[in-house]
Amino acid sequence: MTNKILFIANWKMFGDLKSIKSIESVINISKKKRYRKAKIIYCPPFTLLNNFVIKTKKSTISIGAQNCHHEKDPGPFTGSISSSMIKKIGAEYVIVGHSENRSNGETNKQINDKIRNAITNNLNVIFCIGESLSDKKNKKTNSIISKQINLGLNKIEKIDKIIFAYEPVWSIGTGKVLKNQDLKKQILNIKNIIFKKFRKQKAKIIYGGSVNNKNINDLKQISQLDGFLIGGASQNSKKFIDIIKKTIN
Ligand code: PEP
Repeated sequence: MTNKILFIANWKMFGDLKSIKSIESVINISKKKRYRKAKIIYCPPFTLLNNFVIKTKKSTISIGAQNCHHEKDPGPFTGSISSSMIKKIGAEYVIVGHSENRSNGETNKQINDKIRNAITNNLNVIFCIGESLSDKKNKKTNSIISKQINLGLNKIEKIDKIIFAYEPVWSIGTGKVLKNQDLKKQILNIKNIIFKKFRKQKAKIIYGGSVNNKNINDLKQISQLDGFLIGGASQNSKKFIDIIKKTIN
């Protein structure tokens, strides 16, 4: 996996065939020497995966899916898509454990199955972890994250294909972000949890939750971060480019 600064765009349930044109400006900057330290990954909805793979073919941009089913294909799972199907279409990444899916009943066991299938199919995994507002209020952040990591990565020995995305649930789409010093402390706590389970292996950690072109100047100061997972602001190419430019410059 790359050692560049990660800018992962999570388009969620947004985008249609017309919106593909809007990423041309991002493709252009990805080709500039000045931004070669950036690794851009687009995670569009399933319906646009193939279009994004084709559109970004001659660039360094990679494509990821936003989820996968926990069972292997083929199987009687109406409406579902497996990690091997995602791989075959040309995507290289998959988001697993996003809080919007956890809140719909996705379990740690299913997350673990998804991650193991994804790795078997040679996909890189963007593994989302993070506490809810009530966890935070009850000072359960570290125990929740520890549980998510231990159960989500059960029977997994190597983490070279995993990107840990710390996304506090209360921060997603709300405009609320931890103060830099608190976020830094939290990232170090997570690194500790990972270190206990996967000694000596280097963990990649990114932050997600209301990242925008204003707060990026603060967030980029956290040297322990390997990049950002960006929802809302990534759907606007001008804002997304601004985030990349401000981080790299
Ligand atoms: C996300 O959903 O992964 C996310 C980070 O969203 P937003 O940037 O909109 O908070």
